[in-house]
Amino acid sequence: MQTFDPHLILRDELGELKAYAPTAGQFEVRLDANEAPPLLSPAAKKRLAEVSQKVLLERYPDAGQKELRRAIATKLGVRPNQVLCGVGSDEIITLLMTVATRAKKRAPAPTVVTTTPTFVMYRLSARIRGQRVLEVPLDDDWDLSEASMLRAIEMAAPNLIFIASPNNPTGTMVSRDRLETILTAAKDALVVVDEAYIDYSSRQQLDLIESYENVAILRTLSKIGFAALRVGWIVGQQGLIAELDKARLPYNLPTVCQGLATVVLSELGAEIEATRNVVLAERQRLVSELSSIGGLRLPPSEANFLWIGLPKPAEEVFTELKKQSVLVRSFHGRGGRMEQYLRVTVGTKPENDRFLEALREAL
Ligand SMILES: *Cc1c(COP(=O)(O)O)cnc(C)c1O
Repeated sequence: MQTFDPHLILRDELGELKAYAPTAGQFEVRLDANEAPPLLSPAAKKRLAEVSQKVLLERYPDAGQKELRRAIATKLGVRPNQVLCGVGSDEIITLLMTVATRAKKRAPAPTVVTTTPTFVMYRLSARIRGQRVLEVPLDDDWDLSEASMLRAIEMAAPNLIFIASPNNPTGTMVSRDRLETILTAAKDALVVVDEAYIDYSSRQQLDLIESYENVAILRTLSKIGFAALRVGWIVGQQGLIAELDKARLPYNLPTVCQGLATVVLSELGAEIEATRNVVLAERQRLVSELSSIGGLRLPPSEANFLWIGLPKPAEEVFTELKKQSVLVRSFHGRGGRMEQYLRVTVGTKPENDRFLEALREAL
């Protein structure tokens, strides 16, 4: 047998990365992935089934994503040519990382600036393409540290700056004035504001595109009840969208996903609203129950999960919850303040009650 070591041809950065693997196993309560609870009405399910049935399996999907882009544009009050859809917003992130690689005077290696803690895909996606990543710690309130961000932008001359707001895993929104300070300072970078959780927040940031040409907004259906569809998108200036479109795989989004997402966006607004209301009410209830436990820190959540500061190591509590068949998300391996916090998705009332009971036990 002729042998071949794949490392002969693979880039070095793979050595520092691990494949993304959600915790495996059976758990009675899974509050680890920020999915929405399954609340879709029978009527909505029937409508979606009808649309799936009409798909012509022999034909390629619409390469231009025309109906879907139009549905998104209508909903957001922008033009279809300001929108581009990906297989989840994850694909749009990788697309940006693939094309925004210009070498700059102060940064011969293309660089991405983001915060920490934040969504891991920014770092993963950048490193796999050989980009440098500068992660700027959030301040004590998990908000942008303005001075450190400005210094990082000045030093690293990034092409891309990723800011999740509401942020994952902290659930907090960045303050508007700090965000605008960054936008103003980052004159030759694209600032990507990731709004994966915006449906659960108290304010919007989409209007930034009217004042800043260097901003783009990321959105997704994943956190509001349609994670299975893998549909996310970017909203930005037409010039940027047209260039990104050249690097996108022509048939990236399957017909059934385009079709169902179009129906979700144009017809199922009331369903999304209903899910949102249940989650917001449960979030409120969880916060007051957790406050009565005492000794916990609860940064204000603008998302469908809570970032809970514990009086003992997160790893211990995580393990204890798991023993009680309740899975949440821990980032203790990253050290520092992450060792004291757990991220818990807001679930259904029975799921949240199970979590509360298990947490009381674990503490
Ligand atoms: C979950 C999440 C996403 C991923 O979205 P997909 O559309 O499912 O790829 C993007 N950004 C943040 C901050 C997230 O938490």
